[in-house]
Amino acid sequence: MAIVGSGFAGSLLARVLAVLGYDVVLLERGTHPRFAIGESSTPLANLSLERIGIRYGLEDCYNLATHGRWLEHFPELRRGLKRGFTFYRHHPHEPFANLGFDSERLLVAASPDDSISDTHWMRSDVDHHFVREAIAAGVDYRDRAELTTADIASDSVSVSGSRDGTPFQLRANFLIDASGPGGFLARQLAIPSGLADTETRSGLVFSHFHGLRLMSDVVPGMPEGPYPDDWAAVHHVIDEGWMYSLRFDDGVTSVGFLLTPAGMESLDSNGSDAESLWRALLERYPTLAAVFADATPLMPIAFRSVIQHRLTRAAGERWALMPHAYAFVDPLFSTGIAWSLRAVERLALAFESAATTRRVPAGDVLSRYDAALSAEADQIDLVVAGAYEAMAHFELFAAQAMLYFGTVSFAEASQRLIPDDSAAWKGFLGVGDSVLEPLPRESLRRLRQITQRQGDEGTLDQRREFVEWITSSISPRNIAGLANPERHNLYPVDFDELVERHALLGMSRDQMIAALPALRGMLRSETTGPR
Ligand SMILES: Cc1cc2nc3c(=O)[nH]c(=O)nc-3n(C[C@H](O)[C@H](O)[C@H](O)COP(=O)(O)OP(=O)(O)OC[C@H]3O[C@@H](n4cnc5c(N)ncnc54)[C@H](O)[C@@H]3O)c2cc1C
Repeated sequence: MAIVGSGFAGSLLARVLAVLGYDVVLLERGTHPRFAIGESSTPLANLSLERIGIRYGLEDCYNLATHGRWLEHFPELRRGLKRGFTFYRHHPHEPFANLGFDSERLLVAASPDDSISDTHWMRSDVDHHFVREAIAAGVDYRDRAELTTADIASDSVSVSGSRDGTPFQLRANFLIDASGPGGFLARQLAIPSGLADTETRSGLVFSHFHGLRLMSDVVPGMPEGPYPDDWAAVHHVIDEGWMYSLRFDDGVTSVGFLLTPAGMESLDSNGSDAESLWRALLERYPTLAAVFADATPLMPIAFRSVIQHRLTRAAGERWALMPHAYAFVDPLFSTGIAWSLRAVERLALAFESAATTRRVPAGDVLSRYDAALSAEADQIDLVVAGAYEAMAHFELFAAQAMLYFGTVSFAEASQRLIPDDSAAWKGFLGVGDSVLEPLPRESLRRLRQITQRQGDEGTLDQRREFVEWITSSISPRNIAGLANPERHNLYPVDFDELVERHALLGMSRDQMIAALPALRGMLRSETTGPR
């Protein structure tokens, strides 16, 4: 078995396959520790991590799935407390307006307290950890490997390249490409791009910083939310796109502006370097400038004019791509880690079933994997493209966000409360759910009718109608009490609300109450524990 790329997805899958008794070679172009982007985990990501930990006896995966357990077991691996998703809408040349409960501010808690909360992953530490654990599990790890060719035949795979100038060739039963957007196998197999059929486009200006001020200090006196605003994946929506701000516990913050094509044009990005783009954006948004007043970048600010990529096939006989090698849409709503871990689970299960027979997944399983990734990449694209349209007005944006949060909270609650071995194959972001699957496409259509694809904010009636449509469309799956005006866009994790809505999960009130500990990250005590 050969795996190309030792991000967390490649190294974790390599290790699981080694545990299952496969001989695994993990080939990495670079060396660890190395910088990587994609740092904000989510409840669904942690659920997958816990399931992988439990199924394959990988205690560290289980312990890295909540902030509390992480701190207790791996204090040396840098991470940040992530209590939820925070959004603010800024307008050019105006400070963020604190209008109390009427502020353009949305907080959605992902956890009820710090101990079982999600985390931001300092990828240099986390990926390095997973590589070390893969080696300890028996994976043959080769870094500084420059791969030149991969030949996929019907009975085996051959990979060649060089390491420190010495050529090598190896044969394997199967090849997994976990090289991210590097696209190693895409080039080798000449897999056509599917990017032209996708909706989302954005560029990125990013770095890691020290010394960011808290929004709660820069804009004091905002009504108390379900968690401290800044200990979250913070999203600052602006006319040109949006900015993510992911705080780590040690004072470092990962920040990036995602810019729409129109946003980049307004900034004259073609003629600008990354630093000038950065400065121009802060000059337009005074509250962001105040947040960054004392901040220093820890590495050069970088710019990429397009971050999306998409292929037309994700698997074939004797090969498979991990999600990040197959497609990437945008960091909005942090889907990447969860989707990648779901794929680790799926491929691990496929190899688990093949372990005592043909040693490679059967064709129908690979076709299923290919179809799942294709449908899910489309779904992520539609949800995110809708959110970009909805940025025209905060009311539309907050409603579109409910579509995402309604979908993932239903998935999390159902997978935790009604655990089932097939959870890994359940569709991501509502794929396969007759209620949820059609919504992102329809939502994008409705939003484009309002915005005319030109950022029009629509009339009050149009916006109200859209909010009502979202509210009623998600209601059969809305176990978290979202889209409720009485919450003023401040949503805690509310177990009482969940108990009230027990019937949406097909459970009685008593069954729901009995199952609640599973929602507090106690999946393991409800099952058998790591083997
Ligand atoms: C701007 C941005 C922000 C993001 N933010 C989030 C977020 O907040 N939350 C979230 O969940 N996801 C986020 N993502 C997505 C996230 O980055 C990916 O889901 C994640 O990195 C996938 O991990 P991976 O291990 O599959 O691939 P990668 O992390 O891309 O690792 C690939 C590895 O392969 C190696 N490699 C590349 N080419 C070769 C080659 N030819 N030979 C050998 N090795 C090779 C690389 O050196 C690297 O080590 C973001 C992505 C971007 C672009």
